[in-house]
Amino acid sequence: MVRYNVTTDCPECDGAGSYVITLDLSSSIEHECIFCDGLGERTFPEVSELYESVQELQEEYPKATIERIA
Ligand SMILES: [Zn+2]
Repeated sequence: MVRYNVTTDCPECDGAGSYVITLDLSSSIEHECIFCDGLGERTFPEVSELYESVQELQEEYPKATIERIA
């Protein structure tokens, strides 16, 4: 069993860390993204026996930063 941390741009805010909600034509509110706490990226663990190496996992997540942790 190999464990990795995969860090990708937050899909909810496209890596921006915040997004704008438009209430009406004259006002909008910028919200910190609740999915990534405004960081613009998310890290999740990937535990797998399928991937022999970081390179193989990288093919699954081409834009991600992948760190092998165990
Ligand atoms: Zn986000």
